Amino acid sequence: MSSTPSSDTQPYAGRIAVLGYGSQGRAHALNLRDSGLDVVVGLRPGGPTWKKAEADGFAVVEPAHAVKGADLVAVLTPDMVQPALYKDAIEPNIKPGAALLFAHGFNIHFGQIKPREDIDVILVAPKGPGALVRTEYERGRGVPSIWAVHQDVSGEAEAKTKAYADGIGGGRAMLIKTDFKEETETDLFGEQAVLCGGASELVIKGFETLVEAGYQPEIAYYEVMHELKLIVDLFYEGGITRMLEFISETAQYGDYVSGPRIVDADTKARMKAVLTDIQDGTFARNWTAEYKAGLPNYKKFKQADLDHPIEKVGAKLRARMPWLQTSNDKPAAATPLKKVG
Ligand code: NDP
Ligand code: MG
Repeated sequence: MSSTPSSDTQPYAGRIAVLGYGSQGRAHALNLRDSGLDVVVGLRPGGPTWKKAEADGFAVVEPAHAVKGADLVAVLTPDMVQPALYKDAIEPNIKPGAALLFAHGFNIHFGQIKPREDIDVILVAPKGPGALVRTEYERGRGVPSIWAVHQDVSGEAEAKTKAYADGIGGGRAMLIKTDFKEETETDLFGEQAVLCGGASELVIKGFETLVEAGYQPEIAYYEVMHELKLIVDLFYEGGITRMLEFISETAQYGDYVSGPRIVDADTKARMKAVLTDIQDGTFARNWTAEYKAGLPNYKKFKQADLDHPIEKVGAKLRARMPWLQTSNDKPAAATPLKKVG
């Protein structure tokens, strides 16, 4: 895989339709416009973000209308609504030779969207949440981004991809070439095995272990949930090296002897099984069926997480830590991950 700063790319000359004005959509649209590009925003009328895009000074129209005039269509709505959006607004309206751009490869890779054969299909995924993509751009920097070309009919798909990545600021940092398969499968694996699924289960099982042994839930909460942030911040800033620099010798020794007892070869074998389910399409099939059925299991699992005692004690303790208060659309510090629905 090559890493290329692409400051030599030509600025993109065509009109860009950004569909969706959420985490990524807003950041991309603002950065592209500030880079001097011609941007129109496509949204369903009456949705909560329509007014936001207008307040930011964009021409906002319905998706089908936005697609008609565009040379590049960036699909930045939640992944699960993209297949219907493609069928209704994009497929009948996108110009031959235009580019269809995604920030996550799920729908193309798993065949939920079968793109017309006369368009380019490309991907630019910033390795950070929309808010960071915007604030780094405003500071004159950018968030490293990965890019891919799935279908090139114009002969210019790569140039368009890099020009878009430059327009949102990614080219100022680093662009890494990937393909839709690698982006999709690694993204799903990361969030399932380590970031969301793995980390939350580790915390919950640690909490249960302490509480079942008779320790106070408040103390358990601080030990296994709250303090995780200190460790993750060290990982983020300087990897395991930095964590080892900042934790005590006792904590280091405990890490070396006990860590591998918790996450062992069996855990790794199960990680491989999770990866296999992602690679062979089992996960995508199950998730798509679940979504189409109205999310019955998803809602049950979610309620169980929300009802867990760690959430009850956590809410009580967090209310006494005013520096943690967040607004609804802006996490305090953490990096929100890609949403798959
Ligand atoms: P969001 O959930 O923030 O997108 C919300 C936007 O989509 C709103 O403007 C909403 O409009 C619009 N929308 C929802 N449903 C529809 C619909 N049926 N028709 C038209 N517009 C609709 O998405 P993200 O920014 O989180 O994700 C966008 C893409 O980027 C995804 O492919 C995701 O995987 C990828 N990605 C996300 C990252 C992240 O940090 N979040 C990081 C990298 C990639 P309304 O106001 O009408 O509801
Ligand atoms: Mg969980």
